[in-house]
Amino acid sequence: MSDFTHEKLLVIDFGGQYNQLVARRVRECHVYCEIYSYRTPIEQIRQMNPKGIILTGGPDSVYAEGAATCSPELFELGVPVLGLCYGAQLMMQVLGGEVTRAPEREYGKTEVLIDKPSSPLYTGIDSPTVCWMSHNDYIARAAEGFEITAHTRNCPVASAENPAKQLYAIQFHPEVLHTEHGFEMLQHFVLDVCGCSGDWRMDDFADRTIAALKNKIGDGKVLCALSGGVDSSVAAVLLSKAVGKNLTCVFVDHGLLRKNEGDLVEGVFGDNGIYDLNFIRVNAQERFYIKLAGVDEPERKRKIIGEEFIRVFEEEAKKIGRVDYLVQGTIYPDVVESGLGGESVTIKSHHNVGGLPDYVDFKEIIEPLRDLFKDEVRALGLHLGIPEKLIMRQPFPGPGLGIRIIGDITAEKVHMVQEADAIFREEMERAGINKEASQYYAALTNMRSVGVMGDERTYDYAIALRSVNTVDFMTADVTEIPYDVLKTVMTRIINEVEHVNRVFYDITSKPPATIEME
Ligand code: GLN
Repeated sequence: MSDFTHEKLLVIDFGGQYNQLVARRVRECHVYCEIYSYRTPIEQIRQMNPKGIILTGGPDSVYAEGAATCSPELFELGVPVLGLCYGAQLMMQVLGGEVTRAPEREYGKTEVLIDKPSSPLYTGIDSPTVCWMSHNDYIARAAEGFEITAHTRNCPVASAENPAKQLYAIQFHPEVLHTEHGFEMLQHFVLDVCGCSGDWRMDDFADRTIAALKNKIGDGKVLCALSGGVDSSVAAVLLSKAVGKNLTCVFVDHGLLRKNEGDLVEGVFGDNGIYDLNFIRVNAQERFYIKLAGVDEPERKRKIIGEEFIRVFEEEAKKIGRVDYLVQGTIYPDVVESGLGGESVTIKSHHNVGGLPDYVDFKEIIEPLRDLFKDEVRALGLHLGIPEKLIMRQPFPGPGLGIRIIGDITAEKVHMVQEADAIFREEMERAGINKEASQYYAALTNMRSVGVMGDERTYDYAIALRSVNTVDFMTADVTEIPYDVLKTVMTRIINEVEHVNRVFYDITSKPPATIEME
């Protein structure tokens, strides 16, 4: 829904690692913002009528040939501009300052000495202040009209400003948490310098979006594939509030969900649930198990699950008859990562962004969460009254337990891993470490080994437990689960889950391992 008339900030992306973080911080100031590539024509930027512009960091050197750049007009729009790292260097270079290779690169937490405490960005912040640096180049000479507002031991211009033109340059990264007062600095820019009112709120977003959806859809028929995951659930609830029974949600239980998950989803969205919509649960477990029988190659399993899912969904859609709109739970990081939003390299090519699925006839795809970050989607979900149980769940891959069972899948193995996983989750909650771990689960290794139980020889399966702590899911550490918790989990799994005679705890970080097992 990009029909916002709301005040907006633009984040111009030069390929920095923290670009999405910059946008998130702005949203945390309750100001709406969007990320655009540095290639975006200046005319388009002008037309968007932003209240302020932030230039991100980036891997290039501003003086190198072919480096990412921007039009000098960007600084003449009469709109406040804040350059961060590469953005700061670029601002200086474009406006006549000098950027060179730094004699000493700075990386990590660095003490910044504030030279101009009255700078609007430094209101209420004492010098020195710890900031996160990550640069090889530096601003050797600030452009004319700029005043140096801070320096470090190795960096003569850690920040500079031209208040008359509302231009601000910061060499460090206020958007990362390692910069102690970074959020305040950004807040000062967004609220004080740009003069934003900071009234972007989730309830407001919900009301506007529901009204816009009502308006657009009228009495059209809407179809949503509900996976039970956070994004599709929140999207479905927005639609149900907009069109009620004109929305049909199809929930395919592929038999690879966590224990009782199907019932949880049905309890919320089904006939006895809390929303006004048509809910169809398809119990397709058998179909999936038959298709998956004997298949042990992970990519092949993924493909079969994905294809079968679409087939089941398509059959249901045909039964419904007319469909005008299809709902998808695409969120902003999907859009950016697909290369449609910012500059960062295309990391994943999501089939659900941009491309239209061809398995049902419909007019248009609706993606009501396209502008939101994950934590905003969660906040919206809670605001809409979706139970916390559903909203705060851990990430769960689309192919579900299909990729947490190493090797071939059978109904019996699914049952084993569901039971073991439920025990693991119960004990993590009981021990109070569930909130601290980012993601944890039980998987079924395909390994069988000899054991002894009740004096009888067994030849049974091994369960692997995995739990990681991570901020961005790109790298991860293993959760240091107390030994007695692990022991309790092990004992319970062995006692309660048939055909399991060993329990392992995976202590491998990412890299070299991944978070999921297949
Ligand atoms: N590439 C530039 C430098 O090394 C900017 C780095 C950045 O934006 N983090 O100085």
